[in-house]
Amino acid sequence: MTHRVMNFNAGPAGLPLPALERARDEFLDYAGTGMSIMEHSHRGKAYEAVHHEAVSLLRELLDIPEDFHVLFLQGGASQVFATVPMNFLQHGRTADYVITGGWADKALAEARIVGTPRVAANTYSDGRSSRVPTQSELSLDPSACYVHITTNNTLEGTQFHHCPETHGVPLVGDMSSDFLWRPTDVRPYGFIYAGAQKNLGPSGVTIVLVRKDFLATARMDIPKIFRFGVHADNDSLYNTPPTFAIYMVRNVLAWVKTQGGLPAIESANRRKGTLLYSTLDALSDFYRCPVEASSRSVMNVVFRLPTEALEDRFVTEATKAGMVGLKGHRSVGGIRVSMYNAVPPSAVETLTDFMRDFAKRTG
Ligand code: PMP
Repeated sequence: MTHRVMNFNAGPAGLPLPALERARDEFLDYAGTGMSIMEHSHRGKAYEAVHHEAVSLLRELLDIPEDFHVLFLQGGASQVFATVPMNFLQHGRTADYVITGGWADKALAEARIVGTPRVAANTYSDGRSSRVPTQSELSLDPSACYVHITTNNTLEGTQFHHCPETHGVPLVGDMSSDFLWRPTDVRPYGFIYAGAQKNLGPSGVTIVLVRKDFLATARMDIPKIFRFGVHADNDSLYNTPPTFAIYMVRNVLAWVKTQGGLPAIESANRRKGTLLYSTLDALSDFYRCPVEASSRSVMNVVFRLPTEALEDRFVTEATKAGMVGLKGHRSVGGIRVSMYNAVPPSAVETLTDFMRDFAKRTG
């Protein structure tokens, strides 16, 4: 049997085994065509069917209304940090940014190159953040072009558990690290984006959902390749898309469906979250989670041990026991457990057993 570890990587992250096995089985001869899907023309029938299946599975799973385009783009979420203001930050107007972590801050920095965004709330300073803002902490400009939030802060381990009310101003959500973690009503958003490499597939493709009325406001004075409207008009086939990455997204979405769709995915995710946070709380003399309870992320859980030496030992011993990817991001330190959709609850059970044992032995 193939050796597989318990993968807690933050992204690129572990993928569901059935999605990988399907790719393995179809790798050399896709659907009897005598070639791999990545050797097919992006304009041919075989690839086209995969492309449209991926779009329709996503529409079905998330119940995406017809007034949204579903796009598969390249350049990562980082490119969208730039292309959102290029498209939607109008001359002489502003956009509101909610700063909750390092990625939100990078999105703001790109918007500043394009125009003059405002900071509508900030819970991030000195490279740290322990919570997302409440509704009453948002100081929103009613004439802003959009409000940008980061729904899950991958580095800091915080997550919005409410959808901010923006009183008609289009909401833009960077959902890179929590897209598809549960059923989500996309209708309050004008624009949603996510790099695929956490919950959806391999790196190389970025998912964009854009509401048609918001897209209609987009600027035309930018290069065509950066216009979301051009990609929407061409069904994400304006230029060659990342065909193999989209094929893998198709496999992952098909797996989500066999699991029982997003309600089943959510209940597994909540089970994992409850198990890990309750373990941390029960052992709070040893493990310290810096995140306020109401903002705790169900996708990325961060915590510290009493010393950095113990953190290093924790990571080393966990790796030996088959649990990889637990070292916190270099900008934050500590331990980070990323528990995306493909991480089975059994892996979190093994991890929490290890945590109890480690605390007993070294605490
Ligand atoms: N936003 C968030 C919330 C992220 O977690 C990441 C990557 N981890 C990014 C943006 C940047 O994504 P990419 O590397 O795909 O550009």
